[in-house]
Amino acid sequence: MHTHTSILKNTFGYDTFRPLQREVIENVMARRDTLSVMPTGGGKSLCYQIPSMLFEGLTVVVSPLISLMKDQVEQLRAYGVPAVFLNSSLSPQEYQANMDYIKRGEVKLLYVAPETLLTPRILSLLSSLKVDCLTIDEAHCISEWGHDFRPEYRQIIEVRKRFPDAVCLALTATATSRVRQDIRATLKFATTNEFVASFNRENLFIEVNHKTDPTSQSIKMLERYKDQSGIIYCFSRKQVDELASHLARKGYSVRPYHAGLDDVERRKNQEDFIRDDVQIIVATVAFGMGINKPNVRFVIHFDLPKSIEGYYQEIGRAGRDGLPAHCLLLYSYADVAKLNYFIDQKEGEERRVAIQHLNAIVRFAEDEISCRRKPLLEYFGETFTEKTCANCDNCNSVPVTLTDITVPAQKFLSCVKRADEKFGAGHIVDILLGSKNEKVLRWEHNKLSTYGIGTELNKKQWTHLARQLVSMGYLSQEGEYHTLSLTTKALDALKKRAPIMGILEEAKERATKEGKKKEELDYNRALFAILRQKRKELADAGGVPPYVVFSDRTLTEMATYYPQSAESLLNIAGVGQVKAKQYGDVFLEVIKTYCEKHSLKEKMRPHPSPSPKGRGASPNDEGEIGERTRIVGEEYNEGDSVADLMKRYGVTTNTILDHLMRYVSAGNTLREDHDLQSLVSATPDQQQAVFAAFDEFSAERLKPVFDKLNGTLAYDELKILRMLYMIS
Ligand code: ADP
Ligand code: ZN
Repeated sequence: MHTHTSILKNTFGYDTFRPLQREVIENVMARRDTLSVMPTGGGKSLCYQIPSMLFEGLTVVVSPLISLMKDQVEQLRAYGVPAVFLNSSLSPQEYQANMDYIKRGEVKLLYVAPETLLTPRILSLLSSLKVDCLTIDEAHCISEWGHDFRPEYRQIIEVRKRFPDAVCLALTATATSRVRQDIRATLKFATTNEFVASFNRENLFIEVNHKTDPTSQSIKMLERYKDQSGIIYCFSRKQVDELASHLARKGYSVRPYHAGLDDVERRKNQEDFIRDDVQIIVATVAFGMGINKPNVRFVIHFDLPKSIEGYYQEIGRAGRDGLPAHCLLLYSYADVAKLNYFIDQKEGEERRVAIQHLNAIVRFAEDEISCRRKPLLEYFGETFTEKTCANCDNCNSVPVTLTDITVPAQKFLSCVKRADEKFGAGHIVDILLGSKNEKVLRWEHNKLSTYGIGTELNKKQWTHLARQLVSMGYLSQEGEYHTLSLTTKALDALKKRAPIMGILEEAKERATKEGKKKEELDYNRALFAILRQKRKELADAGGVPPYVVFSDRTLTEMATYYPQSAESLLNIAGVGQVKAKQYGDVFLEVIKTYCEKHSLKEKMRPHPSPSPKGRGASPNDEGEIGERTRIVGEEYNEGDSVADLMKRYGVTTNTILDHLMRYVSAGNTLREDHDLQSLVSATPDQQQAVFAAFDEFSAERLKPVFDKLNGTLAYDELKILRMLYMIS
């Protein structure tokens, strides 16, 4: 007897379910209408593909993405699953052939576009068959609140009534609760049958770098991921064309993609990318919808995206196969100004929303301390509770050494003050550099005492310095024009001529180690290249994309465990029985020849541990901490004071305390001396009361303690006391 687990292994060649796949499948098999929300790459397809093979009758999949249907059907057929699609891209003969195939009852899965489903021809065909499951892909299209509302989706509800015995499964990667609620209400689903997976894509390494020389920064990535697939997103069509031709001249395998190209060229470029005939696509955000390519190894944002939502969707196209993938965002102030310029052309609500979106992505990009995943996931209403993700630049960064920037910092701060705290960084830099531009002259800023006193640094260096002064809390930045004003900290520093530490040059790309995820394999690159070549030959011969033959993950495992028999080949991820029969011998031959030549032996493939269940499954061991946190903790223990550390890393007391807190929470101890105690301003009585409150409520959350003390102690104070409490 077939079960969902046996189909997972025998047909698809996978050992374990991804989070929530099992739950969704079991719910559907129990014939309960189900809503499943999973991120891109989360594995939504198996949620209906496996049930379709267990049901006696037909599973109908409604999907608006015509370009994906063919791809899905090709992949399914390679696994030996009888599937067809019906949409407007088929010729009348092909259409009829597929209809006949369905009529004979041989098809398990039928993909249709919503408008096709609504035609009398299809409705009458379906009424003559047993339909066991109606799957609605991209179900957010049902909601007027979604970003992609399609009126014809509403009519699916009527169709559903015609098949009262069919269970309904709605799938989407759009998670806002408003849309979810709408889907449930429209389809009359019960809340209990809703499954929402975590949107954390653990295999994506997330990095933000200052945009210094974006072309060479991109080339560096291309060199690092030689021969691998990647996408470079640019803001404008012009930029796409320029960058694509520049890279092509340098010999890279690259094509442009944007809405300005004619249909034929655009489709060809996309197709070439999907088939691994082209390595890199340089594109505007127009690229990506309807692309299923699992082995995109990197995504570069050459320009700042307009919102976190867009950004997350774009990086989500990397690493769908679950293997490590690298996402690099190049960030510059100039981009913020550029986007602001476009926002200024808008009006009213639209303008307000655009500003909000921009501010959120700017905050994300400028944060050099917290885990990148935190704000991203919070944006989607999810709390990221891990101390570190171990797979973003901030969690893995090695702190840089700071130098004395007191003199230029003072110049900058006084210039902000002299200009009446009414301008953004760009204008202040112009004044310091003695620019004669219209704005400077109009405001008569050429008459300020700080005019032209900063020629020892260039524009880039000043801009970088301004950014640091903001993040260190000397300047606050307000409003849509990012107007700078001095904080009390700055006034203090100016008065006392206190030293300010920072990074003078435009930051070198920060030293970051990429998190090596636990499941990353140390595979034989040479053999992998040969296997890839073979895969490409077979794919071209069959007229399908290479990933239809085998995924990168499968080839990676082959190049790790060197399977030499049909039996051990079946143990490799992604090798089901049909694929083993169809392609097994060819690949075994390649592996055997290679192993003989290099005296290599087959290795045992370890049995995978069962997949973590449910939402928020964590990739980390308890107590794993970021590199910077570890270093701060160790330096503190070696005798540095909190003040020393603040100065060295150019951050606030609070930041150092956060690092120390994380360090302690991960099970480390801190030296006991008077340094932390010296930061306390609470009276001994208050301190005792706080400790008693920690005893009562635990030190996990500060709010109850804050309330217990009637708000007499600020949170910052409570944080220091908590640290003392934890190490005492
Ligand atoms: P989504 O539709 O949610 O974006 P897909 O269904 O296309 O995601 O799945 C993304 C990739 O993950 C595909 O290449 C698929 O074969 C693979 N995949 C899905 N489920 C599993 C699993 N349980 N184990 C291993 N790989 C899986
Ligand atoms: Zn992180």
